[in-house]
Amino acid sequence: MLREAASSGTEMGKRAKAVMDAGQLVSDDIMIGIVKDVLGFPRTANGFILDGFPRTVPQAKALDGLLSDLKIDLTCVINMEADEAEVVRRLSNRLTCRQCGKIYNLDIDNLADPARCPNCGGELYQRDDDKPETVRKRLRVYAESTAPVKEFYQRSGLLRNVNGMGSVGEVSAAILAALNQD
Ligand SMILES: [Zn+2]
Repeated sequence: MLREAASSGTEMGKRAKAVMDAGQLVSDDIMIGIVKDVLGFPRTANGFILDGFPRTVPQAKALDGLLSDLKIDLTCVINMEADEAEVVRRLSNRLTCRQCGKIYNLDIDNLADPARCPNCGGELYQRDDDKPETVRKRLRVYAESTAPVKEFYQRSGLLRNVNGMGSVGEVSAAILAALNQD
């Protein structure tokens, strides 16, 4: 959503791009503005998944206000839990294409050449974000700013916890079960 907004040239997109180009985190205000724009698109009429948002309690509160203005009910909030060593391991296996932006995982994707993107032939590289020391830093930011979001949704009864330690198939099945549970 963020990348799309940044390349779309909308007012919010331009602001987000300037912040990201400077290597900084996009502020709550800009994130909310972008989510608001996107939720107004016709293609979200049949439902949508917000991935990696809200990341802070102020974002969650703003999202609440936004959804109530748009008369949209949040169905549920999925919290996937995995231990730190596993998170570091998975992200360390993640490669991104410099050309098309596609993301691969050495664990999951059978790459003939781990240096070349099978989609476009571009160069694959490890984002600074996915290096072990940065991942540990991100986990500290998560504990401080994002973990409180769980309590926020726990109180509204929307939170569903899913064990994130299994394979892609196992975690997918657990998420579908959580979505179908009432
Ligand atoms: Zn590519």
